[in-house]
Amino acid sequence: MPADPNALVPTVWPTSAARDAAGELVLGGVAAGALAARFGTPLYVMDEAEVRAHARRVRAAFQGAAAVRGTTARVYYAGKAFLSTEIVRWVTSEGLGVDVASGGELAIALAGGADAAALGFHGNNKSVVELERALEVGVGSIVVDSHIEIERLAALTARADTRRADPQTVFVRVNSGVHAETHSFLATAHEDQKFGFALHDAPAAVRRIREVPGLRFGGLHSHIGSQIFGVAGFREAASRLIDLHAALREGGEVPALNLGGGFGIAYTEADEPTDIEQLATAIVGAVAEECAARGIPVPALAFEPGRSIVGQAGVTLYEVGTVKPVHLESGVDRLYISVDGGMSDNARTALYGAQYSARIASRTSTARPALSRVVGKHCEAGDIVVDLEYLPEDVAPGDLLAVPATGAYCYSLSSNYNAVPRPPVVAVRDGEARLIVRGESVDDLLARDVGAAPRPADASTKGPHA
Ligand SMILES: *Cc1c(COP(=O)(O)O)cnc(C)c1O
Repeated sequence: MPADPNALVPTVWPTSAARDAAGELVLGGVAAGALAARFGTPLYVMDEAEVRAHARRVRAAFQGAAAVRGTTARVYYAGKAFLSTEIVRWVTSEGLGVDVASGGELAIALAGGADAAALGFHGNNKSVVELERALEVGVGSIVVDSHIEIERLAALTARADTRRADPQTVFVRVNSGVHAETHSFLATAHEDQKFGFALHDAPAAVRRIREVPGLRFGGLHSHIGSQIFGVAGFREAASRLIDLHAALREGGEVPALNLGGGFGIAYTEADEPTDIEQLATAIVGAVAEECAARGIPVPALAFEPGRSIVGQAGVTLYEVGTVKPVHLESGVDRLYISVDGGMSDNARTALYGAQYSARIASRTSTARPALSRVVGKHCEAGDIVVDLEYLPEDVAPGDLLAVPATGAYCYSLSSNYNAVPRPPVVAVRDGEARLIVRGESVDDLLARDVGAAPRPADASTKGPHA
């Protein structure tokens, strides 16, 4: 139980989050009530300064750690965490490249002005059309995931209309057998998952890439998981990758090594992720030591953080609709607080039991903290936004509720379940709020339904975000 159910825990909230004199939550200098009044709820709020600060900090951490070991590091923002043209502008202006994993993400990155040469293209099943597009625009690197994909690229780079002036750089994704989760990691000989080449199969992929005139082997790639707190999994992966990396040097150049992302963030007060500087020092150090042990130079390094760039910058605002106590067998009551969104704007709790926290945004309260669960408005018992929280027991319909640390994998995983229009995204900075992604209206939903009768504009149903 928290000492103060109004407190904004600094590890979880954006740096700009504060309470004003009246107790109202302020984000980026803008009061929650003003945001809700102007843009409606639910509302995704992104703190621009927070995104930029994380981008700068992560880049400095890896580049600093690399410089100490006599090499370089590139940082690619993993766009799938949250992608819009505005976010692309923020992270690229802070010196990050961008990773994309579909033709749609590629289009958004380019529309946001990203330099194609600063893009990495991922995915275990990129279509021929997606690969053609990647070659056409000149993406910096394509991370290949199967022999079939290498053959597709061999054919495309030999074709007059998709051939590039210079060979296309490709990385080989390796399934290292290391899989890390928040507090632990598993290291097996063979990990049973869809991504990458098995360690024993990767040399054949690299041999084939080296034969294809239109391709240039850039190095190995590994991504061991997400929301990782410790360094042990990264160390193990680095050790396995450097073994292979060293062996591949016998057949030609191996310029770089990409160790992916997955750096954890705090979702609740209980989470204590490792500082990014400590992680960077440990991971780069592990690579350097493995290289020294084999007498090879430390390769150029690349990293792909997603969550750790945008996660803490996002706060979702909801309005409370109903509150009801449910009597538990243990004798206590749990307050079920229903908000006007749910698993359609934050699938993570329903999808993998993610933990979040919540605060009343519109006011502070001196009422006793009550065991609470914040739930959505969808027709699923698992439609939970915040599984376990203690909120002031006077929380009531009309209160604004804020859920922090929703910047990563909420908007990007959103859906229209129950035909609920997806919320807008607003950026806040220095006391100003700007719409960066328009919310959907019911008209947007009907627009794709071929059988819906065309309706005069004035008769259309206006959702809260119309
Ligand atoms: C998702 C993903 C990332 C980013 O993961 P985070 O946990 O958001 O840092 C990086 N690289 C690859 C290949 C990914 O699939």
